[in-house]
Amino acid sequence: MDKFQLLFENAPHGMATLDTQGHILEWNLQATQIFGLRKDQCLNQPFNQTLLTQSALKTFKTVLENILNSHLAATTNHHLELMALRHDGTEFPLELTLTPIKAHGDFVIYATMRDLKEVRKETEQAELELHKANMFLNAVVENIPDMVFVKEAKELRFTRFNRAGLELLGFSQHDLIGKNDYDFFPRAEADFFTKMDRNVLDSKSMIDIPEEPIQTNFKGQRFLHTKKVPIYDENGNPAYLLGISEDITDRKLAEETQRNLWKEQQARLDAEKALQLRDDFISIAAHELRTPLTALSLQIQLLEKFETQINPNYAAKYSTLVTSSTEQLGRFEKLVENLLDVSRASAGMLILEKSTEDLSELVKQTLQDNQTRFLKANCTVNLSLAPSVIGSWDKFRIEQVIVNLISNAIKYGAGKPIEITTHIKNKKAVLTIRDHGIGINPEDQKRIFNRFERAVSLKKYGGLGLGLFISQQIIQAHDGEIRVQSTPLEGSTFTVELPV
Ligand code: ADP
Repeated sequence: MDKFQLLFENAPHGMATLDTQGHILEWNLQATQIFGLRKDQCLNQPFNQTLLTQSALKTFKTVLENILNSHLAATTNHHLELMALRHDGTEFPLELTLTPIKAHGDFVIYATMRDLKEVRKETEQAELELHKANMFLNAVVENIPDMVFVKEAKELRFTRFNRAGLELLGFSQHDLIGKNDYDFFPRAEADFFTKMDRNVLDSKSMIDIPEEPIQTNFKGQRFLHTKKVPIYDENGNPAYLLGISEDITDRKLAEETQRNLWKEQQARLDAEKALQLRDDFISIAAHELRTPLTALSLQIQLLEKFETQINPNYAAKYSTLVTSSTEQLGRFEKLVENLLDVSRASAGMLILEKSTEDLSELVKQTLQDNQTRFLKANCTVNLSLAPSVIGSWDKFRIEQVIVNLISNAIKYGAGKPIEITTHIKNKKAVLTIRDHGIGINPEDQKRIFNRFERAVSLKKYGGLGLGLFISQQIIQAHDGEIRVQSTPLEGSTFTVELPV
């Protein structure tokens, strides 16, 4: 069998050759398959009588006559769709193509046959497969969590938008399809999107836009990371533009928050470092000052002893100078002591030496010890002290608090009366010191208990802003509480509570 014979035998379609009278000369395997009729059963049989239904006979004959009348114009195909007859008697639609050709000087007619039922089945199957593949692709695109959109290349109108895209922009398919960016977004944004689209299509290459703002319908302004890709037609020209956008707004915000947190943390660390440096400096300075101060104090004491040996003409002046120097030195020592206390308190090294004390007695004692100072301020002091306000406290430290609070009452309420009370309430020893001075603004009332915090100008009132800080540290070390109630221009009441 030569190779053409082989090809004929095994062709995927039914094939036969007929003579000009319509008798079957050759018959391939697929033809046997279609008609259920072997070659030996149909050779030299007239094609029409054996294989066609009654209704198809006439059509076949007419076509055959046409072919003969056209003098067998070779290679013209004549297509027919006829009802054919299988060997078992069943009818089926047949696609029959008749092509007259000249072979070895004789004319033969080539017949190509397909069972249309089978063909339709195959087509239907193929369509089903295609439909399934489309459905699958659709499901993939629809379920991509990023926005996916397609624009046609000419006018950049949307032809496709997936679910994530619709949700993000807050529009429906109906709103978007057939429209372009200028129908939805502010002009500047639409200009930017269009420019990027044109770049992609003109350069025929992908563009990666790391961050672009977009105005959405319900979610305000969002930020996208977008990739745009050209899609080509069969001639290799960009016909569509595919866009894939990830909404990076939340990530961007989280990063910003993180950055701000980091900055705040850094600022806090810097502030803490600065505070530490200041504390270190105060501690060193206070310690360093103490040594010359002690020496100076001893020298002044020595000078006092020499008073009797001074020429009587200068004795009075000498005495005044020594007294004033002693006073100045006392203030200097107080200041250094305060600074040392700040260092101790900041380092948690405020050590208490507790003994049984009566708060009312401590107030009285303090007033007596500082009588001259308080008299100078021209303040009348009204006392209302309960008997036996007893507790276990550090006498020296509590006196220090009382001095601080009375000193402030005198400083910020000079010339006005001061009321001091003590009593026991709810198992607590309570001390109140009330003045009628300048008062404290509500917004300052908390911070004045911090180190170096002041609510007055240095020009008007001297001071370092340490007294209340030290007082609070002392009271807290006793597990007590100190607070203030104040009305600007009317006065302040400081309350100390100590456990009894
Ligand atoms: P200093 O008096 O040396 O400034 P303090 O720590 O004793 O330091 O007080 C802190 C700040 O609190 C003062 O600068 C002042 O603004 C305010 N203050 C304290 N006591 C009173 C008071 N009795 N009346 C008004 N303001 C006061």
